[in-house]
Amino acid sequence: MKWLQAVRQIARVKSRWYSGMHDTLDHVTGIEKRELLAHMAGDCDPFRIMAIKKGPGTRERPNMIPSAYCSRIMGCVCCPEDNHLEYMWLHMGYPKRCGCGYWFELCPVAPL
Ligand SMILES: [Zn+2]
Repeated sequence: MKWLQAVRQIARVKSRWYSGMHDTLDHVTGIEKRELLAHMAGDCDPFRIMAIKKGPGTRERPNMIPSAYCSRIMGCVCCPEDNHLEYMWLHMGYPKRCGCGYWFELCPVAPL
């Protein structure tokens, strides 16, 4: 009856292995995993897509827009009463003025 005890022992170990849910971190891969790790590290905006409050926005002190690439499209709320955004492309090293008069410039950040 030693074989029966061995089978029961194996069944007990297997049920312990498969009884619980796996951690989400074990399932995700690639960019999703890096995003999850950034959230766990306390970075709530790893892709830098949240709205940025405008600063002075002059030519000498433009609003800095973070980007991990050499170009980025951004939307400006030129007038709070408007129901639309003014979109424009920004390129690294070339500050650009929006139609409302604010200046914007890309600032490099590390990619996720
Ligand atoms: Zn604008």
